[in-house]
Amino acid sequence: MNAGAAPVVVATDVRMGYGGVQVLNGVDFTVASGEVSCIIGPSGSGKSTFLRCLNGLEPVLGGSLRVLGEEVGHTLRDGRYHPWTPKQFAAFRRNIGMVFQRFNLFAHQSALENVACGPVHVLGTPPDRARTLAMEHLDRVGLADHAHKRPHQLSGGQQQRVAIARALAMNPALMLFDEPTSALDPELVDEVLEVMKGLAAEGMTMIVVTHEIAFAREVGDRLAFFADGVVVEEGRPREVLAAPEHERTRAFLSSVL
Ligand code: ADP
Ligand code: MG
Repeated sequence: MNAGAAPVVVATDVRMGYGGVQVLNGVDFTVASGEVSCIIGPSGSGKSTFLRCLNGLEPVLGGSLRVLGEEVGHTLRDGRYHPWTPKQFAAFRRNIGMVFQRFNLFAHQSALENVACGPVHVLGTPPDRARTLAMEHLDRVGLADHAHKRPHQLSGGQQQRVAIARALAMNPALMLFDEPTSALDPELVDEVLEVMKGLAAEGMTMIVVTHEIAFAREVGDRLAFFADGVVVEEGRPREVLAAPEHERTRAFLSSVL
């Protein structure tokens, strides 16, 4: 952990809903630089919605959400909040890598092209340079030997590792993972978690929504339990898991452990 650095995420009483139905009911959540923060909680509790708010894909309707030093969606200028333009949203999102349950790779491109694509088209990296860097990122996730393969020639675990390499190629300051191993066959889960563990060891700031309790215990610096659109409890993973304070947390843990 990078003590003294400004927090990467400070959510204070964050509220959000879809068409009048409230989904986030006042989320308080902080992530320090270099921390791995894991989020667990029942389906429908707002975990994915919260991640989408973090990278500006959903609007925050109340409270304050500061990510990478910015109030997401607004800039304070002349004493007033000015909403971001689409260009400002895009520039902000470039700093945040996102990995989903479904890998969403481009089916007609090789692993290497999938990884090099963002840097070339979004960052303007020269193609040769982007391919060299993409190869390094594929190597980082253990897939240098598979760079030429199309997604359908790779296992689910390998595809997810390509998706992680693709996110890393944009040099993000924050990585968000939304149940990255939930769609994988059980025997492929560990290779993805190992890559994530490596990233954590390198000091990447990460928020990981997961049902992998052992990963949260071993790799997480913090663990937050979401239910009904709020953080019910939060703390060091070992402490939360060994002695949850709330009945909701106990009930959830006994259902997944
Ligand atoms: P989780 O990731 O914890 O399972 P979600 O954030 O996906 O929870 O969903 C929280 C609630 O918001 C659920 O009740 C879900 O049905 C609802 N929801 C999610 N996305 C949408 C959407 N695009 N439109 C309307 N309701 C949505
Ligand atoms: Mg979800």
